[in-house]
Amino acid sequence: MTKFKDIGVNKELCKAVKEMGFETPTEVQNESIPFLISHDRDLISLAQTGTGKTAAFGLPVIQKIDLNNKYVQAIILCPTRELCIQISKDLISYSKFYKGIKIIPVYGGTSIENQIKSIKKGAHIIVGTPGRTKDLIKRKVLNLNSVDRVILDEADEMLSMGFKEDL
Ligand code: AMP
Repeated sequence: MTKFKDIGVNKELCKAVKEMGFETPTEVQNESIPFLISHDRDLISLAQTGTGKTAAFGLPVIQKIDLNNKYVQAIILCPTRELCIQISKDLISYSKFYKGIKIIPVYGGTSIENQIKSIKKGAHIIVGTPGRTKDLIKRKVLNLNSVDRVILDEADEMLSMGFKEDL
């Protein structure tokens, strides 16, 4: 039976997912995680909700973060505020044993000032809805120069919701 460590997931992340009750990787995790860990290349994954896709992109993203670099290194875009909060919660759970990692959700309908303050204190991963993320880029709070990974979660949904320009 394949384990997370067999597909290249490091000790800290394996320990956290085990505590969450994940014993074996799901199909989309088996297909995506080894590729994302060993290649710096684009990947398109198609999987239904509930198949474990958050960990499929989330574990490699966390594993690739350089904690010595205090800048934003990854941006995850998703269509709704609810999904944004869910993804950041999941990533925070996976990174339980990653001391000092900062994962910040940014979405509309709430004060941008608090989000700006959080980012300025140092952020490694931003999980955002397209409109708010674009606003933060325009205000030069988010600097894309340091970002080397972008994830579009539910990309089809974001495109059909009219976020094409923002994306
Ligand atoms: P997602 O498709 O990312 O929304 O995940 C659906 C649900 O499956 C979530 O509740 C996850 O916590 C859970 N999950 C993700 N990966 C695994 C795994 N390898 N084994 C068991 N449960 C998992």
